[in-house]
Amino acid sequence: MNTYSHVPDQANHATDLACLADSEKYKTLDDKRRALLRNWYALATVPFFLAIVIGVGVFPRIVPDTAFWAGVAETIIFGSLGWSFIVTFYALFVYGRWFLIRCPRCGWRFGLGDRCGSCDLPRTKENI
Ligand SMILES: [Zn+2]
Repeated sequence: MNTYSHVPDQANHATDLACLADSEKYKTLDDKRRALLRNWYALATVPFFLAIVIGVGVFPRIVPDTAFWAGVAETIIFGSLGWSFIVTFYALFVYGRWFLIRCPRCGWRFGLGDRCGSCDLPRTKENI
């Protein structure tokens, strides 16, 4: 299907796009998605393990009074757990937006394929 007749006035510059990756909005989103794809595991888990190592392993060695450190360690560990949740939700949010992105040319959902389901706009230059 290659018709734009159902489309109301889109911003004119958007119709010049050769592919979805030319869209600034998609590009920023896709860069975020790629960065997350590379780093989400480290982002989500490293602070947590560090917190456990520091809270349980390091602090009690500095001052053997564990009761003194219990609150501090707990706060750090829960803080890092909270951080992991923030990373997870942020990743879900970015992925959600990436999955639901609208085609800049026709205004319909782009979908998950290499081409727009409605107007056939390719996702990247390699798909043209
Ligand atoms: Zn389209």
